[in-house]
Amino acid sequence: MIRSTLALIRAQLTEIRRSKTALFWMSAFPLGFLLLFGFVMARGDARVMAIMMPGLLTTTLMSAALFGVALPLVQQREIGLLRRLRVTPAPAAVVALAHGITAILTGAISLVVLIVLGGALFGMQVAGSWVSLFGVYLCGACALAPMGLLVGSTARDIRTAPAIANLLFFPMMFLSGSAMPFAVLPDGVKTFARLLPTTYLNEAYSGVIVRGEGLMTLAGSLAVLLAIGVIGIVLTSMLFRWEGTEPIPRRSLAIIVAAFTVTLGIAAFAAPAFKMGDMPGARRVEAGAASGQVLVLRGATVLDGLGSRIVNARVVIRDHRIAEMSLDDDRVALPEGATVEDVRGRFLIPGLIDSHVHWGGSGGIGAAPIEMTDDRRAHDLRATLAAGVTGVVSLTDDLNEMRTLSNNVAAARVDAPRTFYAGPSVTARGGHPTEMFSFMPGLADTLTRQVETPEQARAAIAELDRQRVDLVKLVLEPGFEGEPMPRMKDEVFRAAMAEAKARRMRTTVHVGTDADVRLAIELGANGIEHTARGLTDETIALMAAKKITFTPTLVVLDWAWKRDVVRGSDAEARRLAIPSIMSSLLDPKSPLAVMLTDGELSQTMARAFEGSMRQTAKAIRAGVPVMAGSDAGNPVTFHGISLIRELELLAQAGMPLTDVLKAATSRPADRLGQASLGRIATGAIADIVVLDADPTEGIKAYRQVSGLYLGGRKLDIKALP
Ligand SMILES: [Zn+2]
Repeated sequence: MIRSTLALIRAQLTEIRRSKTALFWMSAFPLGFLLLFGFVMARGDARVMAIMMPGLLTTTLMSAALFGVALPLVQQREIGLLRRLRVTPAPAAVVALAHGITAILTGAISLVVLIVLGGALFGMQVAGSWVSLFGVYLCGACALAPMGLLVGSTARDIRTAPAIANLLFFPMMFLSGSAMPFAVLPDGVKTFARLLPTTYLNEAYSGVIVRGEGLMTLAGSLAVLLAIGVIGIVLTSMLFRWEGTEPIPRRSLAIIVAAFTVTLGIAAFAAPAFKMGDMPGARRVEAGAASGQVLVLRGATVLDGLGSRIVNARVVIRDHRIAEMSLDDDRVALPEGATVEDVRGRFLIPGLIDSHVHWGGSGGIGAAPIEMTDDRRAHDLRATLAAGVTGVVSLTDDLNEMRTLSNNVAAARVDAPRTFYAGPSVTARGGHPTEMFSFMPGLADTLTRQVETPEQARAAIAELDRQRVDLVKLVLEPGFEGEPMPRMKDEVFRAAMAEAKARRMRTTVHVGTDADVRLAIELGANGIEHTARGLTDETIALMAAKKITFTPTLVVLDWAWKRDVVRGSDAEARRLAIPSIMSSLLDPKSPLAVMLTDGELSQTMARAFEGSMRQTAKAIRAGVPVMAGSDAGNPVTFHGISLIRELELLAQAGMPLTDVLKAATSRPADRLGQASLGRIATGAIADIVVLDADPTEGIKAYRQVSGLYLGGRKLDIKALP
């Protein structure tokens, strides 16, 4: 029996080598999909590619099983080959086994090719082991190959076989998260997907490839696949036909359908929840205190952060995510047990994201005793929320503190903005910003990585990658005339950028001059922080062409406004700031006093600010993706309210108001790969700000925050500072 099985496998492999159709389904098809997924959908991003790879592998295996098994089987029956085999000592099991093993062999080759090419072309990495990957593959093949045999056995002839195969293929491809990531499927489809075997295969593949899990962790999904496989193998034997003239046993067909339905029905309830449902790139956000809640916000105008508006909307929030968005129609029943809030006449926007902050700084001059305390930090976290800012990017802060903060927000253990972080910035020995940390021994070493050689640069980047930072901040700052600073040497910067790129890390560069920007662009930086001295139109055009994000941080230079703040004429800033820090800024002996009074220096500062405004205006007109970042933590740049001022300045620089909202919501979320933040959309995390006025009609609306939801939890806006 072994010999006849082997002979049949060998014959089939030869057949496949000769058959153009078979070769197409096995090679061109998966390769075409790899290129489509890689270039079009993942846009060459290795991490996105890793998220899409499970679907690609499942689709390939599905086509190998359904088309690669069913069609040859029917063909062999039609040309009478099966009839001839029947008179040999080969029983039906041999034929079935031979087809199954052939499919598993060819499928394994496709698997290796796809993983290797995914790595070579897109830098995709498999987080788990090859052993786990093959383990998942075998369970998947065990479930899907018998389906091909079933199709081959039930199809009347070679014309009906592809029709039946397609009938199974397309639902299993589109409804199980194979053709598009599971995360973007509508909720109804996600529920239905639990009835499809391919969903369990996708979940198991994604466990190995994306999350680096082993076979034990994935036991639930693998058990479903094996159960399907066992039923398929047993039932195939009931349906196997040697000749086309044999009748198709209807009773057996009914039993098969029933058996599959029952098994998958049980699986849908018993198998663990799919973890692949998290949006690409999203940090794991736990439901925390919002677990089990159903909250409905009725009647508001939703500005979704992506450029659309829905008037009279109904937003349903389940746990910590937005479950549903629709028009608020009284005739449509509200979900049972829901807490309903009437927000008619109000405007809902996604929680704002400040793309450049320093939690280490307070906005004072470092002289008020409270500035160095935990209370100050706690106040600033809450003041940021009070301004409607639910996310920040920390560039230059203590890595361990940021990780703890970020995890605590995700688990709803603390009321604070979600914090994405670069950790320490990479700069030259004694380079910017080390001069700002000289007041405390050791602080500069915590907040920077000072590198002098290419080796040191590469080592620093490798360490940050191991620490899983969200992005890398590098500093190119030659200083000012009469006040030079040690700037990273070009070759050192080059080495750091090359290492970061090889590791697929996001990079953003603090720049001083136009030459710095040029170098950063040339080496493939993803972002530029601050305006640059002498920034040329050509450089701006390059930034626009390469879609490099530009965070001008205008507010940190807006000393005219800062004077207003210190004098108390900005009401929101006065409300949100710590009084003792405010009064310390008024001290005429403080080093900032010269800047906060109308003297000659204030004229110079005003000219610098005007220059930055002009650069930003040009960048906006040129189509550079401009981001809202405040550089909060710097003197008189208080957390939260500074971002609101930055939005006003971006509007003043000519940015259309719908774009201003994007610059502080979906755009920064997307640049971090956080597709479930920065938008009000189905599946997104419910970080929502309620405004009393329309921010796309007047920029002052951002100062009228009347409600706030963080991960679906309603925060008491009045109890925040
Ligand atoms: Zn900064």
